Amino acid sequence: MRAFTCHRCAQRLFFENSVCLRCGAEVGFAPSRGELVVRADSPGLRPCANARIAGCNWLVDAGARAAREDDPGEGALCASCRLTRTRPGDGDSAGLAAFAVAEAAKRRLLFQLRDLNLPIESDLGFDLLSSAHGPVSTGHADGLITIDLAESDDARREARRQQLAEPYRTLLGHFRHEIGHYYEPILVDRGGHSEAARARFGDERADYGAALEAHYAAGPPADWAQRHVSAYATMHPYEDWAETFAHYLHIRDTLQTAAAFELHVGGPTPSLRADPTDALAPDLPFSALLADWLPLTYALNQVNRSMGHDDLYPFTLAPAVIDKLTFVHACVTGAGAASGPPGPLAA
Ligand SMILES: [Zn+2]
Ligand SMILES: [Zn+2]
Ligand SMILES: [Zn+2]
Repeated sequence: MRAFTCHRCAQRLFFENSVCLRCGAEVGFAPSRGELVVRADSPGLRPCANARIAGCNWLVDAGARAAREDDPGEGALCASCRLTRTRPGDGDSAGLAAFAVAEAAKRRLLFQLRDLNLPIESDLGFDLLSSAHGPVSTGHADGLITIDLAESDDARREARRQQLAEPYRTLLGHFRHEIGHYYEPILVDRGGHSEAARARFGDERADYGAALEAHYAAGPPADWAQRHVSAYATMHPYEDWAETFAHYLHIRDTLQTAAAFELHVGGPTPSLRADPTDALAPDLPFSALLADWLPLTYALNQVNRSMGHDDLYPFTLAPAVIDKLTFVHACVTGAGAASGPPGPLAA
């Protein structure tokens, strides 16, 4: 994530802010500009119609059409909220609380996709559903990402994490995994990289149902960490790609945040650059990102331990996993290069 400042008083602002805590100015994120702006100074922009219900701090063009043409009073949804196809009903207060948490994670996801210049095509949509009213499976199918809002609940998600013996489980991680499935056909198949992907992740034409059954019957191979970023990634080549893609987004976001705050870490390869824009340069090889990443994670893990928390980054990256991440990096930066300089999400 980038660092933001209040245009009125220069106080540091965070991506989630809707008000400057120093000068009191109401602020919002302008997707077309990629920054937080003071609302009083931005007459062409107005709050998203989901400002209250989803705690959304994104702004929308004052001339944008309402979500429902038969009810202009409802107002227009921002570029993020507009992508949500289904949400809990107005009477479902528990579902709506979870929905707001999920929308916050989704905004962070979309900011990063924009920042990495990844295409957001017209078929992308989200169903944010509460499993309190019936079974919901988090997943992706033909551009539609479904998120089980029960994963917004920290206690439930932690119980599930322990049950599955996962070192890491977050709502943002779910979004990043599912968007990995979304980008697989766009970056790999359409990018003409299918053979290169198969050489690393395996043949994605393998029977998915059989793989799923085998995974839950026998578990991952004992030496999975030599080749995979997570145990779940061993299930099927599609899952390996999605897990690796999500991990790549973790690395890029965290490195960007460190650079935005000029966090310098000395380590085996003390090369975290002073220029915060360096870590964002699309032509940097993945090895350069990794040279910054590893010492940073060692330090951040120790910081967490100092506070009595679990490690921030509970992973080790085997050479085969680094090779997969390098491949994802090539696919992502290739997509960015193909579509020109970073473009805005439509406001
Ligand atoms: Zn301010
Ligand atoms: Zn919104
Ligand atoms: Zn998946």
